[in-house]
Order: sequence, then C-alpha cells, then structure tokens
Amino acid sequence: MKKLKEGASRDELKSQGMAAVIDASFEVAPGEIFVVMGLSGSGKSTLIRTLNGIQPPTEGAVEIFGQDITAINPRQLRSIRREKISMVFQHFALLPHRTVGQNAAYALEVRGINRADREAKAEEALQLVGLGGYAGYYPHELSGGMRQRVGLARALAAETELMLMDEAFSALDPLIRKEMQDQLLELQQELGKTIVFITHDLNEAMRLGNRIAVMRDGRIVQNGTTEEILNDPANDYVAQFIQDVDRTRVLTARDVKEPPVALLGAEQGPRAAHRLMREHQTSALCVVDQAKRLQGVVYETDAAEGVATGKDTLEGLIRPMPTTAPQTVLAELLTAAAEHDAGVAVVDSDGRLEGVIPRVTLLSALADPSSGDFQTIPEEVQV
Ligand code: ADP
Ligand code: MG
Repeated sequence: MKKLKEGASRDELKSQGMAAVIDASFEVAPGEIFVVMGLSGSGKSTLIRTLNGIQPPTEGAVEIFGQDITAINPRQLRSIRREKISMVFQHFALLPHRTVGQNAAYALEVRGINRADREAKAEEALQLVGLGGYAGYYPHELSGGMRQRVGLARALAAETELMLMDEAFSALDPLIRKEMQDQLLELQQELGKTIVFITHDLNEAMRLGNRIAVMRDGRIVQNGTTEEILNDPANDYVAQFIQDVDRTRVLTARDVKEPPVALLGAEQGPRAAHRLMREHQTSALCVVDQAKRLQGVVYETDAAEGVATGKDTLEGLIRPMPTTAPQTVLAELLTAAAEHDAGVAVVDSDGRLEGVIPRVTLLSALADPSSGDFQTIPEEVQV
C-alpha cells in the first residue's frame, strides 16, 4: 500500500499480488450517469464490485447514500444491497428456468414482496423496456437484445435508487446497442436514477455519461465531463483514446449551450428590444413568454424598423428560430445552424428555453483542439 501511494505501478508490484484498483477516489451525484471507462483489465469490474460491497477494498471507504458500507455488518450490507442497489451485467445473468416475468420480479421476490404486487411491478418494468406481453416467455426464446432488456427490467422493477451496470451493452450488436443506449437515456429522463455505467467503449461513454472516469492500470487517470475530456485530455493515454472520436456525434446541445445574453418578453416592444441589443452588443434576441417558453427571435434590423415605423409591440417582428432538445448531438444541428444567424435554441420538453448555441460556439466545439492551434505560433516566426 505504501509503495502504491508513492506512485508505484501495478506492474512493479505484481510479484506481491494484483493491485486491481489503486487510489480511486470519486463521487457520484444523485441522478447522474457516471461512466467508468478503460481498457480490459484496467480495474472497472473490481471497482464496481467494491461499490456493492462484494469486494471490500484493502484500504479506504465506500459510502453509499452517506453510509460507509465497509464499516457495517454483513446483515446490514445485504439489506442495503437488496433495497438500494441493482446490477445489470454483460451476460444478462437471467435464470434460465424462470420466465421473463419471474426473472424481472426476482429482486422483489428476494425482498419478500407478495406475488401479485411483484408481478404487477415486473410487468410495468417490462413495458418500460418495450417487452410488454413477454412475461410468460423463457429467456432462451428471446434474442440477445431482448434478454438484456429483461436484465434491465429486473433492475428497474427493483426500484432502487442506484443502478450499477457493468458492460451491460457490450455483448450486443452495434445497432441493438445503440437502441439500448437511446432507451436508457430516455428512461433516465423519466426515472432520474443514479447510475454507474461501465464500458470499454469511448463513444458509448460519451453518449451516456454526464461524467466519465478514465481508468488505466488500476488508477483513475481523468475524471471529467465529455467536454473536458475532449478538450483537455489529462495525458497522452487519454489523448490517444479520444483521437478517433467523432466530436459531432458525441457532444450534445447540452454540452455546448450557453445562457442567452438577455431575453425579451413577448409583451415588450421594439424600442426595448433595440435597447437591450445595444446594451448586450448582440444582433438578435430570443423572445419568451411568461413561462419561459420560446416564441422566436427578433433581429436588430427588424427591431430598428419597428422603432422607425412607431410600432408598440413585437407583433410581426418575431421570426422562427430552430430549436433542439438538450440531448441532440451536434451533427444534427449543423444544417439548422447554417441557415439561421441566431444559432439554435435549446429547449426542454415543454418548450422552455434552456440556452442557445450561437453559430460560432458550434463551430469551435467542432474544431479539434489538438489540431490547428493558431495561438502557439513560435516566437521566431511572429512579426
Ligand atoms: P476490467 O473490468 O477493467 O476488465 P477487472 O477489474 O476485471 O478489470 O480486473 C483488473 C485486474 O485485476 C486485471 O488485471 C485482472 O486480471 C485482475 N483481477 C481481477 N479479479 C481478480 C482476482 N479475483 N484475483 C486476481 N486478480 C484479479
Ligand atoms: Mg470487467
């Protein structure tokens, strides 16, 4: 332990045993998807096993909802595992002689919940993952993708706050895998669980994760948002990892949105619009109603004309503005942004304005920071 703390690598100490996870400290916020990413053997599965208490750490603490699970007795640990944590595994781990419904209800059965209640909850969970009506089937009658949905339904039926997913989608075909990722993101919007998701796939990590911890040889070498990792990789190892990532397909509207410089109320007039634009040195402003729902955009030229023609209201001056949901990837915003000077508005499912993506932000988000770095012209060639 002393040598590891002084920075010794796993390899240097391997004659004394395998240091599977070394000095890994991190916090996961309620409601976030925290991704642990790293090559095979980097320590991901061991790390997740310490989180549910199956593998106690040699040193250090693991707090789940404020309780240190390394300091409680086995009975308390079992109860936390049963009530608060569910797991989804790479190879589904379904019980072959039980029906899909019985598998989905398994955690509830262990908890001693009566049959009618657990069947109802299991059916609900199966419907959530698109398997309504399959409760009577057996696992071998389903495809791989469907089996993984059962694994997910089993975790959802348990209604735990914390979900641990170890390479849950890694065994699936690419198309099914993408479908499952979409479904997880959709479910998460509704359920707001706290999820620790393990993957060795960077594109998956970036699609799913609010934050990503990158592991190498047992250590966490970087812990940051998608954007931080793309723009500021902590070392060459991470830089190599992200080299082939298509930024337009992993960065989302949420990652690059900016707060609007100012907002116009729908009831305001061209004079106020013009003044606000000058104050904030901008040539366009978003218009929102009282519930902050986006009505459109007013451009400076229109506001000026409104003032010149003595208009009192914004009527006829508000133009449509392209909108997007926060989870949309940038690749899907390029056309809209190219066609509208004011950029793209990011709105929630009720149409409320969350932020804007000015065109220039979109362009700079797409630029790879490691290439074309114009700021670092060597001194001898500067004029
Ligand atoms: P990952 O999930 O990232 O592939 P693991 O956590 O499974 O990595 O493994 C991390 C390292 O610890 C690997 O080198 C693996 O061989 C080793 N390891 C895992 N479990 C054990 C064990 N029970 N005994 C000895 N070594 C182990
Ligand atoms: Mg593993």
